[in-house]
Amino acid sequence: MQVFFPDNPGNLSVYRELIWIQVRSCLRDWGMNYIYNASLFGLSDSRRQFLKTSAKSVGIAALYPWFAGSNLIGAHHKSGKTFGIALVGLGNYAMKQLAPALQETKNCKLTGLVTGTPEKKVKYGKEYGIPDSHIYNYDNFDEIAKNDDIDIVYVVLPNSMHKEYVIRAAKAGKHVISEKPLGLNAAECEEMIRVCKEEGVTLNVGYRLHYDPNHMEVIRMAKEKPFGDVAYVQSEFSFTIGDPTQWRLRKALAGGGAVYDIGVYCIQANRYATGEEPIAITAQEYKTDPVKFAEVDETVCFQLEFPSGVVSNSTTSYNARTNRLYVGYKNRGSALIEPAYSYGGIKGSINGESMGHEPVNQQAHQMDGICKSIVDGNDSGVSGTEGLLDMKVVDALYKSLAAGGKRIKIS
Ligand code: NDP
Repeated sequence: MQVFFPDNPGNLSVYRELIWIQVRSCLRDWGMNYIYNASLFGLSDSRRQFLKTSAKSVGIAALYPWFAGSNLIGAHHKSGKTFGIALVGLGNYAMKQLAPALQETKNCKLTGLVTGTPEKKVKYGKEYGIPDSHIYNYDNFDEIAKNDDIDIVYVVLPNSMHKEYVIRAAKAGKHVISEKPLGLNAAECEEMIRVCKEEGVTLNVGYRLHYDPNHMEVIRMAKEKPFGDVAYVQSEFSFTIGDPTQWRLRKALAGGGAVYDIGVYCIQANRYATGEEPIAITAQEYKTDPVKFAEVDETVCFQLEFPSGVVSNSTTSYNARTNRLYVGYKNRGSALIEPAYSYGGIKGSINGESMGHEPVNQQAHQMDGICKSIVDGNDSGVSGTEGLLDMKVVDALYKSLAAGGKRIKIS
């Protein structure tokens, strides 16, 4: 290990940080970056305590590389440990998309299930070969802490339950992925982020489109500006919701309507297509069916203003069928993704020419990508902070609606 010392360290914390960056880079070179993520590996009962003291452990490992290299952590990484994932809430998305995707992943596999429905325990336990010892319900969920085959808990419950299960999973010493929206508001997201940090586990959001090559292209264009700065963004995501008794139409479980469910995709897209954080919002709500949508929003249009002056215009609805992202750039360029937000069949074009991407299994790429980011100690791009930033917009959106469409600043 070769460590470079600054000529004039000046501020001690800067000096410490510089050494730390170099040590970290050496660890990465040696394939030991996972020391930061020691929580992943089989430390059984001492695992949570280890997590809490991981900073100390990392410090020791940095000074004495043999310490890290000689313990379980190193051995696991070198043998290519696969993350065990437990899905919580075995509904449509978990069992029709995530569980099948976990059969295609390379960095992780399905090792646990959490359900409140006894028939699902039998059905899915058998279908995916998960033993009873690895299937929990909502009462005995916390016992998951003792299960070393489960490294990551993936919360796929109705929106209002995300916070409770994210926090319980973190306190059980597991890394967490939560479905969108991360919480019901920014305050909930901040609490989840804080607890995960305190427990030494990572928190990510199931933003699958960050792993779709068409959306990745739009993200790249915001950074590399092949057609100059972004001038205008339009995003629309709507579907016609069926069953009037479902939880998505109950405010207590869903938080809100189309905005919470699919409007967050538009907010995400507006943010990553511009590469900027919005500073203000103006929103309008319309209802054609006040009975069905008595508790939640049916159709909402909103405009986001960005620091550069760019505006995005979005519509989300539970009573229409739209699925589109358009980005106009200043130097006569445009990107169009339509359909934009589906699980498959996404079609992107630039100036009318197909982007030409092969379809990918978004969920498999997403879960593999998150696992890789945990091992590498990198920001996944879909961390809890992303969920928080979206919910800041959602909070401001509902303030605007409550104020009759007034322009609300986003802080
Ligand atoms: P479902 O209604 O299909 O499934 C939710 C599951 O949660 C139920 O099957 C049930 O599982 C469990 N559950 C526990 N308590 C309740 C309750 N009080 N009411 C209803 N269900 C309960 O929902 P989805 O799978 O469509 O959505 C789940 C989450 O995933 C949501 O947050 C949603 O936003 C997100 N999602 C994300 C998508 C994406 O593309 N990223 C796509 C679709 C959804 P059990 O019987 O096992 O206890």
